[in-house]
Amino acid sequence: SVKTFLRRNAFVIFTVAAVAIGVLLGFALRPHNLTAREVKYFSFPGELLMRMLQMLVLPLIVSSLVTGISSLDSKASGKMGIRAIIYYMVTTFIAVFIGIVMVIIIRPGKGSRDSPMASSGSIEPVQAADAFLDLIRNMFPPNLVEACFKQYKTLYKKTVLTRNITITVNATEMMNSTDLQTLNFSTVLQTLQETVEEVVPVSGSSNGVNALGLVVFSMCFGLVIGNMKQQGQALRDFFDCLNEAIMRLVAIIIWYAPVGILFLIAGKIVEMKDLAQVGGQLGMYTVSVIVGLLIHGLFVLPLLFFVVTRKNPYTFIAGLLQALITALGTSSSSATLPITFRCLEENNHVDKRVTRFVLPVGATINMDGTALYEAVAAIFIAQVNDMDLNFGQILTISITATAASIGAAGIPQAGLVTMVIVLTSVGLPTEDITLIIAVDWFLDRLRTTTNVLGDSFGAGIVEHLSRLELQNQDNSHISLLDST
Ligand code: ASP
Repeated sequence: SVKTFLRRNAFVIFTVAAVAIGVLLGFALRPHNLTAREVKYFSFPGELLMRMLQMLVLPLIVSSLVTGISSLDSKASGKMGIRAIIYYMVTTFIAVFIGIVMVIIIRPGKGSRDSPMASSGSIEPVQAADAFLDLIRNMFPPNLVEACFKQYKTLYKKTVLTRNITITVNATEMMNSTDLQTLNFSTVLQTLQETVEEVVPVSGSSNGVNALGLVVFSMCFGLVIGNMKQQGQALRDFFDCLNEAIMRLVAIIIWYAPVGILFLIAGKIVEMKDLAQVGGQLGMYTVSVIVGLLIHGLFVLPLLFFVVTRKNPYTFIAGLLQALITALGTSSSSATLPITFRCLEENNHVDKRVTRFVLPVGATINMDGTALYEAVAAIFIAQVNDMDLNFGQILTISITATAASIGAAGIPQAGLVTMVIVLTSVGLPTEDITLIIAVDWFLDRLRTTTNVLGDSFGAGIVEHLSRLELQNQDNSHISLLDST
């Protein structure tokens, strides 16, 4: 009946309503020209939601990975891990491919430049190799405690050479003072380029947490205590219980989510620049990214899911609606992670041993939307500069866009920062990132939603492919608590 439908879908209905009200409220308030301070006060309930979700991310990542992996024997977790990695690689490459096709067909950057910008040309380009090494470096945090709380592990590091003494100043000091949501990367980039000989982007960092490092550690830790038989039981129980407790906190926060989302969206609409400005090349660029993301998220991924599992992909998406809207509202796949867990486990009934294993990894390294966007943006900037890319360069862009998406943390506009890697790999001017900044907040929301969708389909597909191993698991040494 209508009543049971309403009761069962209350959260989803609230969340959808929150988006609609947020949009209306935002546009209603725009003519009032609120000051930046007023907008900040107004968006406060949204800021709180961001903080609550982020609060849960660290214990959630660690506890879910440790229990997820220790609940499987190492052969099963190895197989599951390989399947997940193959899925991540294949879908990310497909996303990049779609992006490249879109930007080549639509050619948003054709014609002369809208706003010619002086190229400083004095800075030594960032070496893609440095970025790769940093990605790997971040997988092994030397200090676990620091990896848990360090605010903005270095995003940019500037090195000034004076009389053979190397002084390294962390640009993070500059960034720490700014609120993440309003962080203006163009200013950061410009400031850096004026004062610095060399700009080294450091990837894999995240807001408060070095997620990549913690993921690697938790996986190894889970493997080890999984093999410790009876001796490891206390630790397995501990992390299992911790995970369960965090999920119960999620169940509480989820009541507040619609309110937070409403204010996050309304606040963003109030402060955004006039849309009329976004015409011409930038408008077509935006269209290229959006069409690419839609094709990937609504056709390619569902098709892949259907082919593998024979289940209805759109029912699956419907179960994820709340997570997708949270991604849209927060621009952060890592902040969305708690909700993604809940949607997959409660609505789509994906096996907990799978979600606990693959979701934290996916949210950290699998970003289809970001990869697609990086490829489109790089080729767009090449078009604007009248630079013809040959096949080798396009291939380089596909590879570095994939790497940049792995390196990007699941926080707002991280993809814009890792763009530097892609641009420098083919010799494009990094200062042209400023061309696309105006629309980035918007595209960020859409690519984050695509990222979360990709992670979720991944969990569904890995579960299906691993059903034999899951059935054969001897779970006598692990108690997967039942949350319902
Ligand atoms: N905001 C994105 C995410 O959290 C990352 C990006 O900037 O592309 O998934």
